[in-house]
Amino acid sequence: MGNMVLAENLALIQQRIAAACARCGRAPSEVTLLAVSKSHPPEAIAAAVAAGQLLFGENKVQEAKAKIPLCPGKARWQFIGHLQSNKVRDAVELFEMIQGVDSLAVAQEISKRAEQAAKTLPVLLEVNVAGEASKFGYPPERLLAELAALNALPRIEVHGLMAIPPFAPAAEKARPYFRRLRELKAECEQLLGAPLPQLSMGMSGDFEVAIEEGSTLVRVGTALFGERQRPLPR
Ligand SMILES: *Cc1c(COP(=O)(O)O)cnc(C)c1O
Repeated sequence: MGNMVLAENLALIQQRIAAACARCGRAPSEVTLLAVSKSHPPEAIAAAVAAGQLLFGENKVQEAKAKIPLCPGKARWQFIGHLQSNKVRDAVELFEMIQGVDSLAVAQEISKRAEQAAKTLPVLLEVNVAGEASKFGYPPERLLAELAALNALPRIEVHGLMAIPPFAPAAEKARPYFRRLRELKAECEQLLGAPLPQLSMGMSGDFEVAIEEGSTLVRVGTALFGERQRPLPR
């Protein structure tokens, strides 16, 4: 994809974010665009940086480790995949936030490795909002049960929740799941007695609906970079 096309795609996504915000009385500054660059080469990321996009998401530690050093130093990175314990050390080095934490064990490992790296790492807790057997993420009840223990870990900061609703061709189908995640965030805030700033939901096919339901962070890949080169799980 040429740089011009990428810049046009980015402008269009930003317009769509602004329009969705206008529809529901939110300020566009409340919604952050995370450019999901998995499977795309450093050149595509450099083109996005040149067009003004600085925040990127990757879902494979190995791919990110090879790619990030080849990308502009201005780019910032978040992890959006399922993290295995043996990849935590690299992830703590590479990423400024880890989305997709879905067990106390992995959260403990992140806290331990962050301590060794003299860091504190923001994390988002992934919720399996539809109870799909094939998906990662906390079942809501287990999230509420483990929340206090997660929040007590010294080197992570729980910043909010993220979810990937079941795939559906119609964006409206995702709305009840987005709403459920927002309600669950409110329950977590109640339990913690503190606000959680982030609600990471919405992808290329449904980010406008997600914004209407309160998303603060939309994760957009295909609409920005085009189709991925090779199929990747989730
Ligand atoms: C791949 C991916 C996305 C982006 O999906 P698109 O439909 O290409 O926008 C968003 N979130 C997660 C967790 C992903 O793995």
